[in-house]
Amino acid sequence: MSDTIKETFFEELQSVEGLATLESLRVKYLGKKGVITEAVKKLSSLPIEQRPQAGKELNETKQAIEESLGKKEKHLRDKQLSERLAKEYLDITVPGRYIPRGRLHPINQVLAEINHIFSKMGFDVEEGPEVELDYYNFEALNIPKEHPARDMQDTFYISDEVVLRTQTSPVQIRVMEKKAPPLRFISPGKVYRCDSDVSHTPMFHQVEGLMVDKNISFSHLKGILETFLKEMYGSSVEVRFRPSFFPFTEPSAEIDISCIMCGSKGCRVCKETGWLEVLGAGMVHPKVFENVGYNPEEFTGFAFGMGVERLTMLRYSITDIRLFFDNDLRFLRQF
Ligand SMILES: [Zn+2]
Repeated sequence: MSDTIKETFFEELQSVEGLATLESLRVKYLGKKGVITEAVKKLSSLPIEQRPQAGKELNETKQAIEESLGKKEKHLRDKQLSERLAKEYLDITVPGRYIPRGRLHPINQVLAEINHIFSKMGFDVEEGPEVELDYYNFEALNIPKEHPARDMQDTFYISDEVVLRTQTSPVQIRVMEKKAPPLRFISPGKVYRCDSDVSHTPMFHQVEGLMVDKNISFSHLKGILETFLKEMYGSSVEVRFRPSFFPFTEPSAEIDISCIMCGSKGCRVCKETGWLEVLGAGMVHPKVFENVGYNPEEFTGFAFGMGVERLTMLRYSITDIRLFFDNDLRFLRQF
């Protein structure tokens, strides 16, 4: 009986190719209702003198089956593992994929630098909406509807009362309406004017600054802006203030630095004058303070504004402002 069991078992074992079939085979022979168990039960039907020998043989058969099942299982597991390793093979010598690295746009680099210099002097950063009410963009800044200064800025009108802001100055008004002095902040951002040539784009960036407190004088304005310009363009740069006009400041000034392109000798960029205009500034007009409910007798202050594209062009000797917005990577990668 044992011989027949062994023979069929080994035949069946040979055709096993996977662990699941191997397990079924184990159950078939060694399980509770398996071939071996059934054979043991049948021992009692044998003549008594044959039982010990048959029992012994059956036991040996059981051991042989267990052993073979174990060997087969190990073989199958090894095979499975090496197949998996072959499939998951990773060639660590293959060169990596190149991921192009981005960088900050030159305008953002200069903006960050401006923010940094002013924050060292205690200025906060304030922002405001780009779609602005006519009131904040013009009227509150002492530029009423028929004021000739409106012609200085070619405005994009959305409706009679709504514009794309032409300057970051409306942020001054919004901040002063909400906060009492002392104030010291800059407001960087995008502004819009209907204009386009080598030195103008319909959208560009400005940084506006405001400082308001008791006893603020023109010498504070001079000190802050000189410090800023020397940090920005080097300590050897000379700074010059020229009288000018803005509706929202009185007195007003335009501020020049000695030409950093030619060292003041005269060149195409400075139009042979040796000077470059970089900022507009002035003492805040009392009318503007009245518009936001500040007492001009008690508080004084100064405001200034600059075009970030212009500062960046001077910084990097760029002659066409439109290069900033063409997004030509060959240009942008130089910074
Ligand atoms: Zn020059």
